[in-house]
Amino acid sequence: MTAVVINGREVALASRTRTTQRVQSFVDQHGRAPGLATILIGNDPASEVYIRNKRRSATDAGLIDVHHHLPADVTQNTVAQLIDDLNADPAVSGILLQLPLPDGLDQTELINRISPAKDVDGLTTLSQGRLARGVDGLWPCTPAGVIELLDATGVTIEGAHAVVVGRSELVGHPAAELLLRRNATVTIAHSRTRDLAAVTSTADILVVAAGIPALIGRDHVKPGAAVIDVGIHRTESGLIGDVRFDNVLDIAGWITPVPGGVGPMTIATLLSNTVVAAESSAR
Ligand code: NAP
Repeated sequence: MTAVVINGREVALASRTRTTQRVQSFVDQHGRAPGLATILIGNDPASEVYIRNKRRSATDAGLIDVHHHLPADVTQNTVAQLIDDLNADPAVSGILLQLPLPDGLDQTELINRISPAKDVDGLTTLSQGRLARGVDGLWPCTPAGVIELLDATGVTIEGAHAVVVGRSELVGHPAAELLLRRNATVTIAHSRTRDLAAVTSTADILVVAAGIPALIGRDHVKPGAAVIDVGIHRTESGLIGDVRFDNVLDIAGWITPVPGGVGPMTIATLLSNTVVAAESSAR
């Protein structure tokens, strides 16, 4: 068996096309486009690239780009005041605070300052609590993208055994919650899991977000499973994931490549979350 390689770029493009159409409908109805505010603090090169890509994609989709770049030594109060101003600005539908923040800033406090109605990264405690409670809201972009990729394969989530490797607030935990909402039977594995291969090899759906390069090989995978690799690692030979792609290719049923799998979905979901936020606040 050779796995079907899931084309994240294609799925992301389809999502972005739908978002562009929704932006146009919003403009037709309200006479203005939704705004996405991005806040970058300091000069971390990776964050600068991520923010540049997010802003360019937002503009391409027809969203208004509202950007604030603050110095690394900015005070907590100044950032908090900026977030308050953006919360109050009707032209801003979504607010994204690029992480990680420089040392000295309280990340949790600043994230939680973002109005839940504008929390397009889905990272506030309230958004995550709503997800855990099964109440509608804005979901974290990467996990929501994982679900969209699974849906694109036609894999039945309901009733499947889904194993998520990783339990971070950003990826693993919300991915598990989203799979549970779709009625999967969910197991979360983490760094203290005793026999990882014994757990993962029972998964019909295996989502890997451990941040450990090449952690998962064929011994970890049930034949025919859908394997979604969230990990991204820069190496001398290019980007690799948490899954040994070539090693798993002839045992999995579906697999995402790195790059070109989950990565493109993160921005696509950020854009769609921004439109959802705009539509909700205009109701
Ligand atoms: P993180 O905060 O470091 O969390 C990693 C999780 O993996 C933790 O829950 C940890 O368990 C668990 N873990 C670590 N080693 C493990 C092991 N040997 N076996 C099983 N579980 C293990 O990382 P993250 O922010 O969730 O990101 C995970 C990966 O996804 C990274 O490579 C990151 O770059 C990538 N990522 C990609 C995108 C994208 O757009 N494609 C977006 C976000 C993140 P404990 O809780 O016990 O420590």
